[in-house]
Amino acid sequence: MANLPQQLIEHPLTHHLIVDIGPGIRRLVATNQGPMTGPGTNTYIIGTEQLAVIDPGPLDAAHVQTLMGAGNICWVVVTHTHPDHSPNAKALADVTGAQLLGMPGPDDGHQDESFAPDVVLVDGYQLTTAEFTLQAVHTPGHVANHFCFWHERSGFMFTGDHVMQGATVVIVPPSGDMKDYIASVEKLAQFPIVALAPGHGHLMAKAQEYLAALVAHRLAREAKIMSAMENIPQPLTLAELTPLAYDDVDGSLHAIAAYSLWAHLIKLEKEGRAVQHKEKHWLFDQAHWQLAESVVKFDTKA
Ligand SMILES: [Zn+2]
Repeated sequence: MANLPQQLIEHPLTHHLIVDIGPGIRRLVATNQGPMTGPGTNTYIIGTEQLAVIDPGPLDAAHVQTLMGAGNICWVVVTHTHPDHSPNAKALADVTGAQLLGMPGPDDGHQDESFAPDVVLVDGYQLTTAEFTLQAVHTPGHVANHFCFWHERSGFMFTGDHVMQGATVVIVPPSGDMKDYIASVEKLAQFPIVALAPGHGHLMAKAQEYLAALVAHRLAREAKIMSAMENIPQPLTLAELTPLAYDDVDGSLHAIAAYSLWAHLIKLEKEGRAVQHKEKHWLFDQAHWQLAESVVKFDTKA
């Protein structure tokens, strides 16, 4: 399958119905559609004999019932532990006897704390069956415990929330990390991917172009943030900086964008290109940010 057929890309994201989307690959969309989840979380079913299920979604007995109709589920694998991806994992493992694979979540108040894997994934872990191998690719960034899964036989890369179709991934510090995120996108680009199979939305072809565009998009945003800080020399809060750095984004999205801005600033701080003044304020949205002196000096000389 060198190229991804167009009909697979456009295959409707159907609820309550398991559909074939590739060789030995099926998809069932959970019914948690919404502004942050698009049409709902994609649950993928890999194999025809012994099945692995990726991301069984939020707690939903009907979704478990439909998945059980797929066949002999032996493994339940989660990309990460946000509440729209993993809470159904235990329920599905309990009724099928399947083994649970994933990495427990960071303690940041945004994770599904019910998730307790039988196998704690590490980068490069391979789930090998008579039929297929799924390789775990650690991709911190959206959240520190995020994994993508590489299905070499089809060239499908299951990307969870690391790469979404039709939406920019939100990075919420401290468990989300922009520097890690960009490195993890570059890591995926090392694989000969035929299709990106995201946690939300349709399959995506032209993976290399898409991944390169993702990195370029983040770096363009970073450049915009730096020039906004350069134009106003005094330290700025996130609330002050967001409308400047995201003036091309609808105002209704600025509250969410502020998180990604924060993630960009932490990356710049790690790289010595921005400094944070938080002596009086420990809350993230009260800190004041400005460019590092070395960056400012460098720019005025240039
Ligand atoms: Zn997520």
